[in-house]
Amino acid sequence: MNMTVLVCILRHYVTTEPLRFRGTRDYTYSILSRCQWATDGSCLDDHRSVTSAIVDPQPVVLRVSGTNASSIHGEVMALIAAGLVISAHFSSTSHAVHSDHLQSIRLIEDIRSDTLPPNFWAHKPARSYYRWLGNVLSRAHDIRFTHVKAHSSASDAPSLLNRQADDAASSAHYRSSSFPLAPIPTFSLDNFSLWCPLVGFIENNVLQFITSRLSQQVSHRLFFDSNQRMPSPVAPRSPTFPYERSSAGYSAVVQLYARSGQLPTRGLLASRGMLSSCRCRFGCHAAESPDHIFNVCPTFDDFRRSTLADVHQKSIALLHGVTPHIRVQVLDVIPSLLSSSALLWPHGSNTWFLGHTPVIHHLCPLLSSRILCALSQLWHISFIHLAARIWGCVQRLSASY
Ligand SMILES: [Zn+2]
Repeated sequence: MNMTVLVCILRHYVTTEPLRFRGTRDYTYSILSRCQWATDGSCLDDHRSVTSAIVDPQPVVLRVSGTNASSIHGEVMALIAAGLVISAHFSSTSHAVHSDHLQSIRLIEDIRSDTLPPNFWAHKPARSYYRWLGNVLSRAHDIRFTHVKAHSSASDAPSLLNRQADDAASSAHYRSSSFPLAPIPTFSLDNFSLWCPLVGFIENNVLQFITSRLSQQVSHRLFFDSNQRMPSPVAPRSPTFPYERSSAGYSAVVQLYARSGQLPTRGLLASRGMLSSCRCRFGCHAAESPDHIFNVCPTFDDFRRSTLADVHQKSIALLHGVTPHIRVQVLDVIPSLLSSSALLWPHGSNTWFLGHTPVIHHLCPLLSSRILCALSQLWHISFIHLAARIWGCVQRLSASY
């Protein structure tokens, strides 16, 4: 793909409807004659959405995908787009492009001064985009790239333009279908580059990417091979403290046995021919399975009530800063945590005794991710402590029968 084709593509991408920005439009028009531009990139949802924006006089918003993109890709793509648009449409005068990405601005200075060491690009993140930017710079001598501080309250032209670019790039995540995909610089990739379906080319952190993929494969296998006793790969991550640093390791041992399907309930022992009956040892007319012992058996009703009261009290403390509506929404969920209710559980059924927590963000979609994580961890620890308390009681009572 040659540079003329790329310019044509970007010319096609230039939005036909002017972008609207908050309260600065008049000012923007007043600085058009000064030929000032700003660029910004934005990354959201753990790299699932990366956008680039340039403003003004001719706003362009692009989505970056197909290269395991991060915020660096968004920033550099915006600088490339600015260089291409200015060269194609406004080459008669000199222009200034302001970016809050200091790393790129310094790199542009190094590229222009030709002071980079020979092997500089070998391990540079987003190097295919930087090589493309270098190519653009080689034919855009009249464009001056400068750094502007991000998220400042200054009222000078670069800061105002930076806020506009930031607004454009950030808001594009929520209207992604309205903006075109940026071209993938396959022409400037390394001679050999990793490629992954649904991800694209991998040129950054290859070792980390492969480790993460292998880890996902193992967690999927553990989840299904354990008959869903192990945590779902998409479930919130459990805290490691109770398993690695707690001085009372009984909870961790109970979890080890429960998640590996080795908890010696009468159901399991009968299935192995070690007992003649699998009936609950506490007299219930039910088979003694983990689900019966932890969820149903009335022998442990007091334990469950006590834990729910404790969870309720600690959850209130975590919900200190949220609105009354959300607080009530969360607290209404707590009485159902230990029952086979209609709560959304990641595995389709209530398996709290395996340390699993319900899908809280579906139950309370307005809760912030920070509080979601804190609640999930609080509930997880309460659940594994209750499971250990119940199983400890099962063993003690069994010894006395
Ligand atoms: Zn029972």
